[in-house]
Amino acid sequence: MYLHGTSRINERGHLEIGGCDTVQLAKQFGTPLYVLDEQLIRERCRAYVRAFQQSGVDFQVAYASKALSTMAICRIVDEEGLSLDVVSDGELYTALKAGFPAGRIHFHGNNKTPEELKMALDAKIGCIVVDNSTELKLLRSMATKRSQQVDVLLRLTPGIEAHTHEYIQTGQEDSKFGFSLANGHALQAVETCQRSSYLRLLGFHCHIGSQIFDVRGYQVAMEKIGQFASKCYERYDFTTRVINVGGGFGIRYVEGDRPLSPDAYVSAIVDGLKASFSHQSELPAVWIEPGRSIVGEAGTTLYTVGTEKRIPGIRHYIAVDGGMTDNPRPALYQAKYDAMLANKGNQTNRQVVSVAGKCCESGDMLIWDCALPEVEIGDILAVGATGAYNYSMASNYNRIRKPAVVLVRDGKADVIVKRETLDDIIAHDVIPERLANDIALSRQE
Ligand SMILES: *Cc1c(COP(=O)(O)O)cnc(C)c1O
Repeated sequence: MYLHGTSRINERGHLEIGGCDTVQLAKQFGTPLYVLDEQLIRERCRAYVRAFQQSGVDFQVAYASKALSTMAICRIVDEEGLSLDVVSDGELYTALKAGFPAGRIHFHGNNKTPEELKMALDAKIGCIVVDNSTELKLLRSMATKRSQQVDVLLRLTPGIEAHTHEYIQTGQEDSKFGFSLANGHALQAVETCQRSSYLRLLGFHCHIGSQIFDVRGYQVAMEKIGQFASKCYERYDFTTRVINVGGGFGIRYVEGDRPLSPDAYVSAIVDGLKASFSHQSELPAVWIEPGRSIVGEAGTTLYTVGTEKRIPGIRHYIAVDGGMTDNPRPALYQAKYDAMLANKGNQTNRQVVSVAGKCCESGDMLIWDCALPEVEIGDILAVGATGAYNYSMASNYNRIRKPAVVLVRDGKADVIVKRETLDDIIAHDVIPERLANDIALSRQE
């Protein structure tokens, strides 16, 4: 398993993260356990900020909090000077309760409810990324009624899909997100904003994919938005002040992954900006929205190996005390992860096993064919790069409790999300009175 950030093998042959022995962490906090390397999260934030500072353009780096939204994470991201993207009232509430400055919060989503928009307007958040014409009309009428100025970006569909190693120009724009560039909807939306005294259009947003290892898709997106912006400039005398090219920057899950540095992405994006906005005397600011690449590599999940099953000549399964409930990505989209035995970090791999979760689903497999040292029941299995889209996508399927999240740094470990209790599992259950009575009656008989 690739060792990210402060991860290393210590003198006892154990995996250590943030100066904490993970075998000790497993004992102290129980398993499954999400462990987050605070220093690495901060380094990733700083790497993007530094890259933009060197480029000389105005910028905002907005952490896409859907990757991992907790109040402590909001605090760290705030301390590092980043902005924050939210996609729901829950993520907005988390950020506000953590004291995140509202002015640096951006609200995304293709179906923001009237209640969510009201919450955003009440909090006076920095920007609403308007996705479609229904939302645009609703927001315009709300802003007008409240006589409140609202900064907005329009989400555009540039007709590009970026995948891990290539990008595709789809030409046609079949996506649930954003205003289409091809059919005039985007232009109409600009006009609607220009006519409103309360909607202040800052510029345009797009997001072309995730786990992208190539800069070309961002540059093509910038080109297309630049052409559109230039049309708006000619037609409506509209000067674009912000271009938001979204997130999607790739990380290393397994040995073969070769992510680019934040510098490489940022300098390509800034080059694209300069090439595409020559029609304006002043360049727009660039906003980006990394999620996975801020927290992904900083996360490690610890499990205890509970059972094994050897099918001679076919497969050797080991089963851990978590699975698709704490990491649904392998089951959802065949995502690949790598693992090691945290208590046998200095032993060489000598068998290939498949790591199963404990849910009642054959598809609940965390890793197929994982090379490990001799595995024994009770070993601590560490799965790397689980910081993004693991806790945030966790479920209570099979009524399995969500694990705790522990933040480690300089030998200190702090719980930032408590492990759910059995009472948490039934906390929202209600037994209607008639059912309670029925039971009482049947017992009496
Ligand atoms: C998901 C998402 C992001 C973050 O994507 P990552 O792959 O985690 O960097 C950024 N912006 C938007 C609009 C998104 O939907």
